[in-house]
Amino acid sequence: MAVTSLRAEVSDLLSRLIRIDTTNPPGNETAAAELLREYLEANGVECEHYARVPERANLVARIRGSGGGPSLLLLSHTDVVLADPREWSVPPFSGEVRDGEIWGRGALDMKGQVAANAVAIASLAREGFAPAGDLIFAATADEEVGDGFGLQWLCEEHPDAVRCDFAVNEGAGERLELGDGVYYICATAEKMTAPFTIRVHGRSGHASMPGIADNALVKAARLVERIAEYRPEPQLQQEVEAFLRTVLGEVPSAASVVGRARAVHPIAAELVEPLLAPTFAPTMISASQKRNVIPALCEIVVDCRLLPGQHPERIEPMVRAVLGGDVEYDLVWGESEGGTRSPLESPLWDAVDAFVSENEPGARAVPICTAGFTDSHWLREAFGTVAYGFFPARAMPPEVSAQLIHSADERVPVDDLELGVDWLRYAARTVCG
Ligand SMILES: [Zn+2]
Repeated sequence: MAVTSLRAEVSDLLSRLIRIDTTNPPGNETAAAELLREYLEANGVECEHYARVPERANLVARIRGSGGGPSLLLLSHTDVVLADPREWSVPPFSGEVRDGEIWGRGALDMKGQVAANAVAIASLAREGFAPAGDLIFAATADEEVGDGFGLQWLCEEHPDAVRCDFAVNEGAGERLELGDGVYYICATAEKMTAPFTIRVHGRSGHASMPGIADNALVKAARLVERIAEYRPEPQLQQEVEAFLRTVLGEVPSAASVVGRARAVHPIAAELVEPLLAPTFAPTMISASQKRNVIPALCEIVVDCRLLPGQHPERIEPMVRAVLGGDVEYDLVWGESEGGTRSPLESPLWDAVDAFVSENEPGARAVPICTAGFTDSHWLREAFGTVAYGFFPARAMPPEVSAQLIHSADERVPVDDLELGVDWLRYAARTVCG
């Protein structure tokens, strides 16, 4: 293989990955796993396919450690979300390079990091990297939908393939200018998604005579309003405290956090606000299927996000108190997921911190809990892995990337891919080297 530079190598690999349509559903991630296997094996990295069904393969590759050292997993997913070509200025599966950026679905979430992970482990293998602990690469299926073909299934059915002490995943890495300081955020924890349904009962009847019926939709409206207006007591968890200590130099009271953060920068307030309490967002409602029939049942679905360590059983009394006692309803919890954290102090944190200050003098790494969740929780739950979301980005401003993820014209600067490869090689050398 003629290697010009890691920059050209990662850029070319990403374009080729984008050209493989892995829209989930249905996924078809095997084609991406095949491309990665071909690339990694050509560079002397041993690979293994693990697939619950043939068309949805996960690829795991590794450089074996000489024994005794900690293992590091470079984790990524190869599936992407739907792209409607009519909304895009380039075909979404073109992988076109324009003005130093690679365009296409998955460029940011997260085929860019897939390609950078692959180039990091391949280049280390070429250089004869001989770590003390295993350096592992996993490009998994089915992160966007989560039907059990990807990392969850690997942790359950092939734990030896993905067991690791440390992991680097997606989730953060944005460069923020807040006040006089420059910060790179690293996701060390994630909130839990814990949706629930409220079923309000009434009595049906003909809509021409509302007085004879008991309209479940009208009663549900009161509950929607109460839950939407509810503002739980703010509290400070360790990630927010660490973020504030770094950015403000002190930890203000929970009640004044949002105001203090906003005074530094609106983006700081946006980041911390959902991390102070559980959030409740009613998002779906269904009632009568006929215009002239008063519904006997109305269902409201609430997207609820809990802080790490909070659980539905402990939150339910609070929710019931908010809903009040004047409307009869049933409350049914859906499946919860996420809500895990890793310690703020670890050799992996030291690597993040050192990489940031070496690459941009004066800049600092800050931990954050993310409002959404990733596959990291499977590793934390199965193996107690210290997993962080960190893929540094400094060429593309965070407000731009936030608008492009899962949206039209998704693209990534080649400069950021190159920075990502540097980071992953640095992490491998310092954590399992
Ligand atoms: Zn993703």
